[in-house]
Amino acid sequence: MLDNLLSEVDVQHLCTLLDKAHNIIVTCHVSPDGDAMGAVLAFSHFLWRKGKNAQPVVPNIFPDFLKWMPGVARVRIYEKHENEVAPLVIICLDFNAPDRLQGLQKPVTDSQSPKIMIDHHLDPVDFCDWVVSRQEMSSTCELLYRILVQLEGLEPMTYEEAVCLYTGMMTDTGCFSYNSNRSDIYYIIGRLLTKGIDKDKIYRNVFFNYSAERFRLMGYMLYVKLEYFPEYHASLMTLTREEQKRFSHKKGDTEGFVNIPLQIGKSRLSVFLREDTERHNIRVSLRSVDDFPCNRMAAEFFNGGGHLNASGGELSCTMDEAVQIVRKALKKYTSLLTDR
Ligand code: 5GP
Ligand code: MN
Repeated sequence: MLDNLLSEVDVQHLCTLLDKAHNIIVTCHVSPDGDAMGAVLAFSHFLWRKGKNAQPVVPNIFPDFLKWMPGVARVRIYEKHENEVAPLVIICLDFNAPDRLQGLQKPVTDSQSPKIMIDHHLDPVDFCDWVVSRQEMSSTCELLYRILVQLEGLEPMTYEEAVCLYTGMMTDTGCFSYNSNRSDIYYIIGRLLTKGIDKDKIYRNVFFNYSAERFRLMGYMLYVKLEYFPEYHASLMTLTREEQKRFSHKKGDTEGFVNIPLQIGKSRLSVFLREDTERHNIRVSLRSVDDFPCNRMAAEFFNGGGHLNASGGELSCTMDEAVQIVRKALKKYTSLLTDR
């Protein structure tokens, strides 16, 4: 059995907010990943089952390898529907700061509607009326599973909800290869399997669903662009706009690239810099193993943050300047990277 996450008062408050509202917006962070999409869709399915008019809205497009998810055809991409947000409750999933909403930031923060936050990132910003923020959770989907089961038990949960929740748990833990040592996770997977989900198929839907272009690009990145710094146990890959064009890059094509160099023995940190094609900046991704604090490095050098082992940020400069900043960061963190 799982411990209850919410107090009775919290449950009452949440039920009152949801009971009163008919039009509900369910949203997540910009560039949605499997956990964000899983949480948005699972919560939307739950609300539709309750007869609510729930509208899943994401700030911008999501990768093709998530387009198989149940309910995905009902997801609106905000960029394309600028004038249609008039909800009574806004549910914010898998992010904890309004600036992660991109174009949706202003309509959400301007809105007088009650806001609910369910999230597992560090340092939540105070902008919601009802908040569950649990950093120890593997994923927002794990957190959401526990909330839904506390609200109404496992019995009413549908196959579609279970598929979406499993997808988020699987993608946010690298298929249960990091952030995944708590036994509750496997208890929950056991419960989700009783709903008939095919976890092997879900794995293939996500990870055996890439384009040939992505593979060419991956080969190029590993062969030509990967720099390994043995003195720092760290690696760096960079990707320019021109290269993205050359390899017909589509949203999501570089997903997971940053994790690959961690497979180099002794490696503790991987940094990936990509020129953004939508905005004029450089997206930074950091991944680490063990206790190396990516989030500290991201906050100190890359205007970002995140989890201990997975963080991100952005830089407004040229790629050459960004590489210099990475070198500075590696130098500053030498002892944490090499003391073992
Ligand atoms: P990714 O490398 O996949 O873009 O991001 C990894 C993690 O870093 C995300 O799950 C999120 O927690 C965090 N993250 C990414 N970009 C930012 C950012 O710009 N600001 C902050 N605070 N966190 C970020
Ligand atoms: Mn997440």
